[in-house]
Amino acid sequence: MKTNYNPFENAQLQFDNVAEYIELDGGMREFLRQPMLELHFTIPVKMDDGTTKTLQAYRIRHNDARGPAKGGIRFHPHETADTVRALAMWMTWKCACVDIPLGGGKGGIVCDPRLLSKGEQERMCRGYVRAIHKQLGPNEDVPAPDVMSNSQHMLWMMDEYETIAGSRYPGVITGKPVGMGGSLGRTEATGYGCIYTLKDLLRQIGLPAKDTAASIQGFGNVAEYAARMYTDLGGKVVAVSCWNQPDSTAYTFRKTSGCDIAELVSIKDVFGSIDKEKALALGYEVLPGDDWLAQDVDILIPAALENQITPAVFPRISDRVKIIVEAANGPTTPDCDSLLKDKGVIVLPDFLCNAGGVTCSYFEQVQSNMNYFWDKAEVLNKLEYGMTKAFRAVYELSKEKGLYMRDAAYIIAINRVSQAVKLRGWV
Ligand code: GLU
Repeated sequence: MKTNYNPFENAQLQFDNVAEYIELDGGMREFLRQPMLELHFTIPVKMDDGTTKTLQAYRIRHNDARGPAKGGIRFHPHETADTVRALAMWMTWKCACVDIPLGGGKGGIVCDPRLLSKGEQERMCRGYVRAIHKQLGPNEDVPAPDVMSNSQHMLWMMDEYETIAGSRYPGVITGKPVGMGGSLGRTEATGYGCIYTLKDLLRQIGLPAKDTAASIQGFGNVAEYAARMYTDLGGKVVAVSCWNQPDSTAYTFRKTSGCDIAELVSIKDVFGSIDKEKALALGYEVLPGDDWLAQDVDILIPAALENQITPAVFPRISDRVKIIVEAANGPTTPDCDSLLKDKGVIVLPDFLCNAGGVTCSYFEQVQSNMNYFWDKAEVLNKLEYGMTKAFRAVYELSKEKGLYMRDAAYIIAINRVSQAVKLRGWV
């Protein structure tokens, strides 16, 4: 973990640069560059051995001018207030970029859920909601899964909220299990959404997916479904980097003839870790964790955490790389954006390309509110339509003005949010 890295400063820097470019009003700039509400709190969790562990937790609302705050809750041992602030801000831009009527928020618990029993995880989830239930609600702030949190965690949280509120509120949280208010396709949505945008980009630049190879960082939900859809389109995944299950060290698992995604899925756990010994037995080369970005491929898909593509590692990226698909939130630092731009690498920016998850969360809320659920094909068709439409708008603006795609996406998002703020008369 690099200690001098501050994701919130990076998120503000990205915002400031675009605000300057579009000559955003000073008062609006000051308002939009910080969160509207921050909750920092502790959760006492009764452990199975009878002791109590107190965990630090956060819920941060960046902006709710366009609708209730929306965004996941991450479980990570290195979570910080600044990470959650940055992620909350990126959620505001994300929802605006795909034009769904939601604002931006994010939560986090400083923990390693891989080291907690099921009962401990349940008590932690319920404790999170107990601490901040007054600030949550279908019309206030709607959490969802994120790094290392899943549909079971969401259901415990919903149940705790409903128990406290004394009624049923399926719209209070998304990413719930199917059959319990969840939407078909939600599990796949973020990964598939990334590949829907990649598919359209490849179409625009005339590069068939079957002529490309990719390397992926991460093997959680997002990476798995991105890899599945990319290989279905004919692309070849040559490497996947993720944690080894027993020792929490990252490795790159490589098969230059192409990884079999279903086979890798069969040796991973629910938190996206792969058992190294099993990978070796299946014929994978096991390389250092950061070797994923030095592979001879056309496409890099960072699908893990922020701060991965930096000037320090930039020289290791192969000259063959043409596209970076930012499936993770904030994987590229602002000082590396200029290097990638000069090199002519096309970056599909995070808050555009990974917006499939929150788009499907929005569909989940709509279905929950109607208490009428769509079949999977309907969900995925609507998702592909929404993602492609958002991608086209960003791509066309970037072509028209000669802009880096991240800047084009920011322009669209900031304009939508500042318009909502102005119409409400806040600034
Ligand atoms: N955690 C996901 C994200 O970063 C999904 C958020 C949501 O569905 O609210 O986009």
